[in-house]
Amino acid sequence: MFRRVLIANRGEIALRIMRACRELGVETVCVYSTADRDAPYLKLADRAICIGPGPSKDSYLNIARIISAAELADVDAIHPGYGFLSERADFSEVCRDCKIEFIGPSPEAMGKLGDKVEAKRYAKAAKVPVFPGSEGAVEEVDEAVEVAAEIGYPVIIKAAAGGGGRGMRICHNEATLRANISKAQQEAAAAFGNGAVFIEKFLEHARHVEVQVLGDKHGNAVHLWERDCSMQRRHQKVIEEAPGPGIERKKIEEVCKNAARLIKSADYAGAATVEFLMDEKQNFYMLEVNTRVQVEHPVTEMITGVDIVKESIRIASGEPISVKQKDVKVNGHAIECRICAEDHTKDFMPSAGMIDTWRAPGGLGVRMDTHASAGYRVPPNYDSMIGKLICWAPDREQAIARTERALREFEVGPIKTTIPLHLEMMHNSDFRRGGVDIHYLERALKAAGHG
Ligand code: ADP
Repeated sequence: MFRRVLIANRGEIALRIMRACRELGVETVCVYSTADRDAPYLKLADRAICIGPGPSKDSYLNIARIISAAELADVDAIHPGYGFLSERADFSEVCRDCKIEFIGPSPEAMGKLGDKVEAKRYAKAAKVPVFPGSEGAVEEVDEAVEVAAEIGYPVIIKAAAGGGGRGMRICHNEATLRANISKAQQEAAAAFGNGAVFIEKFLEHARHVEVQVLGDKHGNAVHLWERDCSMQRRHQKVIEEAPGPGIERKKIEEVCKNAARLIKSADYAGAATVEFLMDEKQNFYMLEVNTRVQVEHPVTEMITGVDIVKESIRIASGEPISVKQKDVKVNGHAIECRICAEDHTKDFMPSAGMIDTWRAPGGLGVRMDTHASAGYRVPPNYDSMIGKLICWAPDREQAIARTERALREFEVGPIKTTIPLHLEMMHNSDFRRGGVDIHYLERALKAAGHG
């Protein structure tokens, strides 16, 4: 096991990783920007090192500064968390060159699965169903038009290196496709440093279902079942749950098995998520592979009892996955609400600033993953998520009741948060029935005059 790990991230995930390290007896070094200088979680690290000013490019995205901190603190490994540098193969490579273990996949495995076009190739070979669409990237407009004619409209143009719900364009006919291809290429080049785009069938009424997988350095891959993340706004997840309501178990079993096979085929070591869209007939189509731990990993931890972050650290240190596939059982139901510092009645306007009141819920089956507390100032520089409320219960109905109860206890002020939106959703009859599609929330917000 490692002696000392550097955490190249901030906020709740930095704290989550610190907790895992502490339980493993591993020392932690946390880096921070001046915007996070007063964050209370830094006190829980064995050492905290300032790596620069607020803008991410000068701190959390600055590879040279993070490596300097790692060398200064003499760490054996770096955990990148999610976002920031977590999916950058060049960062994983720099770590290797500096003889620091990157807690995540090798640059090679990341190259195979992190690129959406490459991942589709591996997926096909592993019998993982993918969307009908272009074979690889499309260069010319005519090529895109030809593929679209074959698969039928609507189609979606996506960036091979895209992420965070950006770089996607939906086209309902040939004219819009023609008008958008070169724009999408230019945009992708500017935003992701890679202009490659591809097209695939656009699914109108889909659910987002993803599979958590762990791979290790000994050729093992184990899946930890699925999560349903269909409650989204602007392609960003808002509520996640596990297991997926109403999904035929035989079907999901096969999808999960194939997802694990895909991870294994890429010699992948670490935590990965294979994301799918599921249509009304419960056909699955792979979207992409996320080559890192995800925001919503706790719902899987709650239903399987597997500590995904600890596993990722153990795997990086060379240990095999601690559980066998046959022992990974689904126990009960878990729901996660992402709590963001935003006003959902004002088009989700960010609401940064000082938190005076913070009364977090508790009790049986209630888990809070957060770095916030009374006296914490939410900096305006970063993602607005200030915590996650995760509730577990023996079944979905009780998990909803528990989430509702916990949200009622939850008091934050004077900043605005998305707690009221989550409460609305726990009362929403469509959500309670289960199986809403990925556009449901946006439709509901619009109907309520919040869209
Ligand atoms: P990102 O890497 O930016 O998160 P994804 O490929 O994971 O991009 O897609 C994010 C979201 O965009 C999906 O959850 C879904 O809501 C929507 N989306 C992506 N591809 C399609 C598609 N082919 N049909 C319908 N919706 C899609």
